[in-house]
Amino acid sequence: MKYEYDLVVIGAGSGGVRAARMSAGFGAKVAVIESSHLGGTCVNVGCVPKKLFVYAASFADAFEDAPGFGWGRARPSFDWPALVEAKNNEIARLNKIYGKILTDAGVEIVEGRGRFVDPHTVRVGDRTLSAKKILIATGGKPWAPEIPGHELGTTSNDMFFLPKLPKRIVIAGGGYIGVEFASIFHGLGVETHLVHRHEFLLNRFDGDVRRHFTEQLRHRGIHAHLGHTIQSLQKRGEDIVATLDDGTQLAADLQMAAVGRRPNTQGLGLEEIGVDVDHDRGGVVVNDDFQTTVPHIYAIGDVIDRIQLTPVALAEGMAFAHTHYGDKPRGVDYESIPTAVFGTPQVGTVGLTEEEAWHRGEEVVVFRSVFTPMKNILAGRHEKMLMKLVVCAQTDKVFGVHVVGPDAGEIVQGFAVAMKCGATKAQLDHTVGIHPTAAEELVTMRTPVKK
Ligand code: FAD
Repeated sequence: MKYEYDLVVIGAGSGGVRAARMSAGFGAKVAVIESSHLGGTCVNVGCVPKKLFVYAASFADAFEDAPGFGWGRARPSFDWPALVEAKNNEIARLNKIYGKILTDAGVEIVEGRGRFVDPHTVRVGDRTLSAKKILIATGGKPWAPEIPGHELGTTSNDMFFLPKLPKRIVIAGGGYIGVEFASIFHGLGVETHLVHRHEFLLNRFDGDVRRHFTEQLRHRGIHAHLGHTIQSLQKRGEDIVATLDDGTQLAADLQMAAVGRRPNTQGLGLEEIGVDVDHDRGGVVVNDDFQTTVPHIYAIGDVIDRIQLTPVALAEGMAFAHTHYGDKPRGVDYESIPTAVFGTPQVGTVGLTEEEAWHRGEEVVVFRSVFTPMKNILAGRHEKMLMKLVVCAQTDKVFGVHVVGPDAGEIVQGFAVAMKCGATKAQLDHTVGIHPTAAEELVTMRTPVKK
């Protein structure tokens, strides 16, 4: 059977673009279908614009801290539409770069929404594309429970295009997206309420990290309503009123749900061609080689609902391209994936939490340090930094590195490399610190706080 393409990729996000361009680089004839903007969630409504907003909000701290270092107290005004316009220009520039990367690699870009018509054919508008192999890389989308009045709420997708900055916002969900947007809006001067169903924010992070982070975030003036959920939304005049499970009513200009994301599998025609999806959350079911229940159809990235991070989607895309069109098969190592939360404060983490280590039955030694970063002293900022190492009691191997405070993400990246190399606590102890930095604390913690 002769097909038009060796590979058709549905979705030009982080994973799809990487898989398409590498496969084409290995000599495959490839088309990629995209229904929205090139670059997917990360470039258009995720990591990149979010980080630009994080930078924008971080000036608030700089202005607040500056008088401690001899600067005057005058505070410049903030222009939200100017920020959104600058962000839009940057994203448009990146969209173009993605287009060029793909076409330079010889990938054909097909605009429109793809849907399977049979296991080897995808329809886009009035065009059909046939391929020997098809890769589903359609990502995910925000999900919100259908509480009464839910249609009055917004999601992270909307935050990047708000015509004006709200004066008050209620955010549901204390995961990384919720706390990052709470930090951004608070930094920009918005009265920010964060409603989270558990006692501490950032579920699944290390317990000390969660406690420290929650405390610091509250200390900054973000109103965290912990142990609660939003039961309904109502319009009252110009306000949106969120009613919590204890009857508390929070009036705001905007409500944002950040309570989860779901794989983008609807409308692809997967059921008709026999590609199984998980009934609970709708993720495409794949084996270790990213193969679906139809052997020549594969899936990577957020749509398989494993670890929803851009570098993971990229790694899966590369593994796919190497395996199918490169010189040798490759897998993805999901152990010790570092990650950051770009909130105020920032969190950087890699490896096991203390709780995970206990649950695995490991005997651990814990090192922990809580201190005031140097810059905060003259700034008069009463914020402390947390650093924590979880170490195997038997082998001395570092199981986990957890940091809460300025530049935590930047600090942890290097320690993630050390952990991949199997670093032990003794090796950290033998490493000379860089002085004066906060990161040197991670190589100078001598006394365990727990065994
Ligand atoms: P996506 O990037 O979502 O790409 C899927 C693409 O498929 C989209 O462009 C979509 O339009 C297209 N598509 C869908 N259906 C069809 C169809 N039927 N036909 C054609 N095209 C289709 N990750 C990090 O690592 N660090 C961060 O700091 C970070 N911050 C984030 C902040 C926010 C607010 C959000 C929402 C996510 C963030 N992420 C972050 C997660 C990251 O964006 C995703 O893990 C990553 O984009 C997943 O890549 P993907 O290729 O699987 O899917």
